[in-house]
Amino acid sequence: MNDTPSHFPEGARIAVLTTQPLDGPLDYLAPEGGVMIGAYVEAPLGPRKVMGVVWGPGLGGFDASKLRRVSSVLDVPPMRDEMRVFLEKAGAYTLTPLPAMLRLATRAPALGQPPSKRKVYRRGTGRPDRETEARARVMAALDEMGGLALTLSELSQMAGVTSSVVKGLVKQGVVSEEESPRDTPYPRLDPALPSKPLAEDQAEAAEVLRDAVASGRYGTTLLKGVTGSGKTEVYLEAVAACLAKGRQALVLLPEIALSAEFLTRVEARFGAKPAEWHSGVTQTERRRIWHMVGSGGAQLVVGARSALFLPFQDLGLVVVDEEHDSSYKQEEGALYNARDMAVLRASITDAQVVLASATPSLESWANAEAGKYRRLTLTSRFGTAALPEMKSLDMRGEDLPADRWISEPLAAAARRRIENGEQALLFLNRRGYAPVTICRACGHQIGCKHCDARMVEHRFLKRLVCHQCGETEPRPEVCPSCGVEGKLAAVGPGVERLAEEARARFPEARIAVLSSDMYTTARQLKAEIASIAEGGADIIVGTQLVAKGHNFPLLTLVGVIDADLGLQGSDLRAAERTFQLMRQVAGRAGRAEKPGVALLQTYQPDHPVIRAILSGDEEGFWRAEAREREAAGVPPYGRMAGIILSSEDVQKVFDLGNALARNAGALRRIGADVYGPAPAPIARVRGRHRVRLLVKAPKGSALQAAVADWVGQFRLKGDLRLAVDIDPQSFF
Ligand code: ADP
Ligand code: ZN
Repeated sequence: MNDTPSHFPEGARIAVLTTQPLDGPLDYLAPEGGVMIGAYVEAPLGPRKVMGVVWGPGLGGFDASKLRRVSSVLDVPPMRDEMRVFLEKAGAYTLTPLPAMLRLATRAPALGQPPSKRKVYRRGTGRPDRETEARARVMAALDEMGGLALTLSELSQMAGVTSSVVKGLVKQGVVSEEESPRDTPYPRLDPALPSKPLAEDQAEAAEVLRDAVASGRYGTTLLKGVTGSGKTEVYLEAVAACLAKGRQALVLLPEIALSAEFLTRVEARFGAKPAEWHSGVTQTERRRIWHMVGSGGAQLVVGARSALFLPFQDLGLVVVDEEHDSSYKQEEGALYNARDMAVLRASITDAQVVLASATPSLESWANAEAGKYRRLTLTSRFGTAALPEMKSLDMRGEDLPADRWISEPLAAAARRRIENGEQALLFLNRRGYAPVTICRACGHQIGCKHCDARMVEHRFLKRLVCHQCGETEPRPEVCPSCGVEGKLAAVGPGVERLAEEARARFPEARIAVLSSDMYTTARQLKAEIASIAEGGADIIVGTQLVAKGHNFPLLTLVGVIDADLGLQGSDLRAAERTFQLMRQVAGRAGRAEKPGVALLQTYQPDHPVIRAILSGDEEGFWRAEAREREAAGVPPYGRMAGIILSSEDVQKVFDLGNALARNAGALRRIGADVYGPAPAPIARVRGRHRVRLLVKAPKGSALQAAVADWVGQFRLKGDLRLAVDIDPQSFF
């Protein structure tokens, strides 16, 4: 973009990108006073006005006399060149149209509106007509703030009075009421505050990262270290170096629930909390972050994957914590992997990336092996904490009734923990009560009306729920197929049912269930996690929600109910995912002084993945897995793209699928193969039939261009939809 002008005079032909579902930018005329490249504008589109960004000079090819003029320029700093380049490259990589990319970058409400205001209060000049104790407390609170303004709720809370006391003082001029913008800068973080004294390997790793950040150039580091080895302490030093340089930092985390503990750690290290960006944040706060990030009023953002698209003024560091986590892949709308996009964005802004994990993705491991990423390894747990001992429990010898899942040895081990005042975790990666509801009279299994998926019973919600589309219904009394009453039975375990078994087996124990369905707000969930950490439960029954990052100091036993669960299915990452999840869950045990044990219930103790998990030979596991993938020519040693076609008309999807398969010349030219069409593993979702094609191409081939040419041959008619998933992570 070096030769493009940065300002367009009034009446000049310009290209404006809007968030409307079009192919790309449209031509307009620059408004009165001209306009900067990157400016946020409002432009007429049909009968409406839409928000857009000045993308560059007009593209031409449209009758100049018919061009319309941009209506207004919004009072927001223009989008930076770096961001436009990032959106274009990310869009080209993921084959996502630019308008959809712009939507990702403008996910804050009312961007163009003047900043919203709120009322704040500070000490006025008058004297109260009557001195009361409550009034005195209000004035004392304001004096204590040394002239700073407070909101009504802050002030009444601090003074311990009702808001009417404050309002009364306002009337008399004793307290002054003012309008103040909501979009205020975040409290300054101080990188000069001291860190914890680092252990030797931590200090060495921190030193390398500090130097990398100080270089002001792009680079990616894989920070590998067992859970509890101090990866967070180490990358906070990289954050410190970045802030000290006056640049901004972004820490991506996979789970909202993780951030409470993390925010406290940031506050302890830098003296204030960072900005927090995720789906649970209010609209006003989103708007504030968006503006503050753009104007330098936020030094550090902690957020979910979409925080990567915030308009940072000068992004110097992106940390992707738990980089292997599959939640970094956005599976709806624009299909992108935040880990890969972080690397792309950093390479454009001369920033550093730190990928932190105890069990990296094979992609990142391979990039480190190939020397594309720097590798730093922390080998031991910090302090006296030792890694848990891991053992398998061979379930073939256990004679459990069909509705019980906790084996005798596991129950005995859990009982010992309860007696010692320690905690045990029973882990089952399945939400709800039972995955299947079957009629014992006719054998019918209750399925979703809109999807080819079974309805999962959730007793806590007292409903059956489709995990695909979210459809719910009350659990019927009568079989919907044969009409017989009272014969519907739950089959198989979910965490809720496991908790029921645990309550029956350990009636004296306090049992906590950690599954996302059980909490309606992130706050509730955080509170529960905090209570468990303080010893508020003896047994924790949980899904993979507990596998991630929480620190339960009293937890010394992890029992995995079904270690084989993830090994089924044809997913190319089944082994990798199981390995990561099992090591991660096991890592929850023994994080404080007392050593931990992880017991894995399995029907296949000799399976190579189970053996690798137990032996802890991580490098051996990665190398074996890498060899297999290399031989099969699959990622990261080959490239893949998934195509999902959908329509309410099953014939139409297959017709298009077959036509695509027959006309794959564009793919053949780069040496790629196409598989399918085949019904997607879940062949119907929300009433739409789904068909899948899979493209496999050699590493280094121009996959995106070929796929674009290939699918571009067809016009989609009616309700047919086609989605391209570059580097697919899951195959549903
Ligand atoms: P990881 O991110 O690798 O799981 P953490 O950084 O969370 O590890 O460290 C695990 C625990 O050990 C945390 O409670 C952390 O505060 C503590 N810890 C790690 N390194 C140090 C250190 N150098 N000094 C004091 N405490 C530390
Ligand atoms: Zn459904």
